[in-house]
Amino acid sequence: MPLIISKENLTIIKKHVAEIFPYEACGAMLGIFDGDNKKITKIFPAQNKYRKIAWDAFEIEPKDMLEIDKLSRKENIEVIGFYHSHPNHPAVPSNTDIGASWPYYSYTIVSIKGNKLEDVADIKNYLMPDKINKPIIEEIIITE
Ligand SMILES: [Zn+2]
Repeated sequence: MPLIISKENLTIIKKHVAEIFPYEACGAMLGIFDGDNKKITKIFPAQNKYRKIAWDAFEIEPKDMLEIDKLSRKENIEVIGFYHSHPNHPAVPSNTDIGASWPYYSYTIVSIKGNKLEDVADIKNYLMPDKINKPIIEEIIITE
């Protein structure tokens, strides 16, 4: 299922991961299932529980998970997936990512090399079917 995201929401993700560089940033992507698409309507930049770890661990702070849950109920949207950054590493899921993933969600990985928006090197989105099989790339469609 392709992930549909607006340029504006994608910029929120890029800004967040650039700001946190050289550490690993993470957040939630919320929206709706629209036919065969996953449509992202809201980005929630969260705090990485591991703060100043550059590679490779992220876990959204429990208080942020609570806020994300509240937001989804308030706006009647669902958590579609999570994004996180790979500072100075390619946008490929690590073994840690695969091991910590849930099959239902989309995982967007942003490869970044500096503190500017232009330092975003690559963005890829994955589904991780289980902890054994290879992650599946899910297309990202960017809208105006
Ligand atoms: Zn990762």
